[in-house]
Amino acid sequence: MRSELPMSASPASPSPPNLQALPVSPFAPAFANAQPDAAVDTPAARLARAWRALDAVPDPEIPVVSIRDLGILRDVTLAPDGVTIEVAITPTYSGCPAMSQIEEDAGRALEAAGLAPWRVRTVLAPAWTTDWITDAGRANLRAYGIAPPGQCASTIARDSIVQPLRFVPRARQARPEVVACPRCGSVHTQELSRFASTACKALYRCLDCREPFDYFKPY
Ligand SMILES: [Zn+2]
Repeated sequence: MRSELPMSASPASPSPPNLQALPVSPFAPAFANAQPDAAVDTPAARLARAWRALDAVPDPEIPVVSIRDLGILRDVTLAPDGVTIEVAITPTYSGCPAMSQIEEDAGRALEAAGLAPWRVRTVLAPAWTTDWITDAGRANLRAYGIAPPGQCASTIARDSIVQPLRFVPRARQARPEVVACPRCGSVHTQELSRFASTACKALYRCLDCREPFDYFKPY
């Protein structure tokens, strides 16, 4: 914040007021939604605006869920220059084709909010897990006709950076999942195919209402 103030005072001019001693206005946060203005656009206000702007960015593959609710958006910080918005993103799996689209959408949202410059940082560890999908994200998935993922079987080593290399999908190590139909709620469902519209989903059908649906596999 201080670095954005004009530093034009020459040695000959009267010494500027001691900025550190100035009281912080208790009303400052109320102006966080106002147009960008150096006087009120504090780092905290910029970050809050950035979070709000990114909150509205949908996942390209499942547009009913935002990248924040999907757990892809990990953090929003200011770069060391104090100006650049740095967006930390963890892909759902390495090589996810939607990542460049997500980067582009995030940047566009920030620019629309007057928050350029920005940059995206990809964070690969810890690896993304379906456990990071928020409750709001799960509710949106269900409303969209996709059964949200159950709790992941192996969450213990999740927060550690080092993870064992696995050749078996984690979901299969667990007991067979009970997948509720997103339309009627019946647990009387059957897996038709391990893969559906995308690799991260399985194709199910409900044996009660007869509707097929996608199940977002936990991993
Ligand atoms: Zn059903």
